[in-house]
Amino acid sequence: MTEGANGSTGIGDSKLVLRCECGASITASRKSRLVELARIHFGEFHPDLGPGVPADLILAMAEEKEAATL
Ligand SMILES: [Zn+2]
Repeated sequence: MTEGANGSTGIGDSKLVLRCECGASITASRKSRLVELARIHFGEFHPDLGPGVPADLILAMAEEKEAATL
């Protein structure tokens, strides 16, 4: 795991938040990262969905939030 680059990178974009039906929320600043985290979550908590959840579905479930509120 490389967590070093995971902090503030100066990108003033919005964040993506995925609220799972189980009540968990998954937050990421990039779509690719959100998909990755969501698949990990589904694999652990919703193995019936499995790790092969389509990226389109994950992104359809996600909301964009302004990063300015942080
Ligand atoms: Zn969940």
